[in-house]
Amino acid sequence: MNLAVEDFQGQPCQDQLVQQVIAPGLCVACGACLGLCPHYLFMDGRVAAPDKCDLAEGRCLELCPVALEQDPAPRRAGLAADLGLEMEPPMGPVLAAWQGRAQAPALKGKAQYGGVVTELLSLALEEDLVSEAVLTTSGKKGAPQGVLAKTRDEVLAAAGSIYAGGGALGELNRALASEDQHALALVGLPCQVLAAAAMKTHPRYEAAKERLGLVIGLFCTMNLPARELRNLLSDEGVEGPVLKSDFPPPPAGIYQVWTEDGYHEVDIEKLRDIRFSGCGLCPDLTAEFTDLSVGACEGRPGLDTILVRSQAGADLVQRALEAGRLELEPADEESMEHLREAAANKRQRAAEAKQE
Ligand SMILES: Cc1cc2nc3c(=O)[nH]c(=O)nc-3n(C[C@H](O)[C@H](O)[C@H](O)COP(=O)(O)OP(=O)(O)OC[C@H]3O[C@@H](n4cnc5c(N)ncnc54)[C@H](O)[C@@H]3O)c2cc1C
Ligand code: SF4
Ligand code: SF4
Repeated sequence: MNLAVEDFQGQPCQDQLVQQVIAPGLCVACGACLGLCPHYLFMDGRVAAPDKCDLAEGRCLELCPVALEQDPAPRRAGLAADLGLEMEPPMGPVLAAWQGRAQAPALKGKAQYGGVVTELLSLALEEDLVSEAVLTTSGKKGAPQGVLAKTRDEVLAAAGSIYAGGGALGELNRALASEDQHALALVGLPCQVLAAAAMKTHPRYEAAKERLGLVIGLFCTMNLPARELRNLLSDEGVEGPVLKSDFPPPPAGIYQVWTEDGYHEVDIEKLRDIRFSGCGLCPDLTAEFTDLSVGACEGRPGLDTILVRSQAGADLVQRALEAGRLELEPADEESMEHLREAAANKRQRAAEAKQE
């Protein structure tokens, strides 16, 4: 991959974003450039720049996580310092690590694994820590899209993982542009929470600094463009809306899909062939720029691993435990060692991809 960022400097920022990220196919559909201006569109899981903008210093380029990862300056370190986070490689800050699940029976079959993300968000809304949460849910033709949730029912409706880029940060930008002053929460992939960190520290994005109150991250190894995923599933004979899907941990090597027709399996290599190319440059497995991050619990289906990264994250988990909403135990050292190894491997692969 050619990362000659300096080649584009001095050009309008939209030209730089298009040349550096969108045209070479590196966009991962995070949505950070959406909802700021009318010059970008999100359609069926892809971002396009349908008309021209001559602004020299637009936020679109400065918030794009793919551009941030390409920047030769140590941007991650700078953002961490600005936010007061002590980055511990390879997983970022970890104040506490837990394994467990939500207690609520309503989450069974709806949540991806343990339902910890849905339960913590519901609690944060109920206790007025935030007034709205930016989530990702299934939109037209099953393509993911950002959504604003204000109630437990709306958070529940967005439970479960969609393995496709949903552009939810566009919804966050739109919510931050509103007259309302209420605090917002975000659930995002590592690239999305990196962009959110850039928003919070951006000199021309006061609303993000003031109103983005809670950031929950999801672990992530790769993601897929919605249309290509739909076409691949169709080629594999999987038709109709996807009700649930999963990448079980190695060595399974499959993508599992449930539709109204039943259960289907697809070879994971076929998905790797269509994943976003930009995911190859992404060094972050565990979503480092968050209040807390959540992923699968290796070898224990139905449970989550929770990495608590900030005091706000620790306080929220404590409230949930006291309210009997979560059932958690400290993560065992062997699982943590595996996670550290996987996180270090992802960093290594991204560093090699940058060198190519
Ligand atoms: C694309 C993707 C890749 C992932 N890769 C891994 C991995 O490699 N290893 C691992 O351990 N875990 C991975 N996860 C996280 C895992 O699937 C669960 O989301 C996590 O364990 C939380 O489970 P839960 O039951 O607590 O979540 P739930 O309570 O079910 O809540 C899930 C939340 O995820 C949000 N969400 C769903 N789809 C998306 C999306 N496309 N983009 C952004 N947010 C979304 C929803 O808004 C919802 O709030 C991935 C998730 C996604 C979306
Ligand atoms: S990666 Fe995100 S910010 Fe960058 S071009 Fe794609 S959608 Fe826009
Ligand atoms: S691998 Fe990285 S860039 Fe790709 S979707 Fe996941 S967090 Fe975003």
